[in-house]
Amino acid sequence: MKNKLLVVGTMAYDAIETPFDKVDKILGGCATYIALAASQLDVEVSVISIIGDDFEEAHLEMLRKRNIDLSGVETIAGGKTFFWSGRYHNDLNTRTTLQTDLNVLMQFDPKVPTAWTKSEIVLLGNLNPLNQAAVLDQMTSRPKLVIMDTMNYWMDSFRSELDAVIPRVDVLCINDEEARQLTAQNSLVKAAKMIQQMGPKYVIIKKGEHGALLFHKEEVFCAPALPLEEIFDPTGAGDSFVGGFAAYLAQTGTISFEAMKSAIVYASAMASFTVEKFGPQNLETLTEEKIQQRLRAFDQLTKFEIDLA
Ligand code: AMP
Repeated sequence: MKNKLLVVGTMAYDAIETPFDKVDKILGGCATYIALAASQLDVEVSVISIIGDDFEEAHLEMLRKRNIDLSGVETIAGGKTFFWSGRYHNDLNTRTTLQTDLNVLMQFDPKVPTAWTKSEIVLLGNLNPLNQAAVLDQMTSRPKLVIMDTMNYWMDSFRSELDAVIPRVDVLCINDEEARQLTAQNSLVKAAKMIQQMGPKYVIIKKGEHGALLFHKEEVFCAPALPLEEIFDPTGAGDSFVGGFAAYLAQTGTISFEAMKSAIVYASAMASFTVEKFGPQNLETLTEEKIQQRLRAFDQLTKFEIDLA
């Protein structure tokens, strides 16, 4: 039987500006990227989210075709889907959020479908921490692993709510800037230690094109990002990363530091596909062959021999 991965997060429309191009409306949302990345693996994936009736049927159909369960997605009649717009700077590693319209997200009251209340892995996508907590409250057995992502937006306005969820989480996956903001530490090593003291046993710090770090007790693992010749749109890289990470662990069924090392490499491969095209387009057309090829590229990138005394 396949393991179940339950995801809560936004389904959205985004407007994105990069140094090369601009789109006014493209499918987005953290849950969308997470689910698309996760659906590349042999796991059952369900999304809990909220959309307006402006959300296109073709987009729902595309997700369903990838066997993503949408029974936990609520549609609000007359409501408008969450909207986010951002502009990337020349280095493509930093961005400015131009607009965040919560729209239907303001009335989000996540409901975990009965069939999913015993899911092995729960992935709390970047979202209002109250919504993240509401999902955990509805689980009828403690998931094997709870993974959480968040961002500065929620740290700025919902800090105490965020502080209440973090201790309930096993893996916190955030980027370097967010880790620094969360802990008021400049050193990422110190930041990771501080986050572990807040509760999560594992901390992943994403560093964009510089890869990702995994911390657990005194152990640290570092995975590079694939040096890509062309990056079109970094939107959703973090979400595809965490989606690939969670699904990899769900597929193998093993929760350990060693398993997480491999999961991070898989996660980095997913992120590398996402940034090659605008929005989630590349994830929609991925094949197992392309994934294997990329995993081989990661293997080559990180393999070396050295004589140790
Ligand atoms: P990432 O580039 O991985 O940080 O994720 C980008 C996606 O997150 C976009 O598709 C947005 O729709 C979504 N997003 C942006 N801001 C928020 C927010 N405050 N809460 C939840 N999702 C968001």
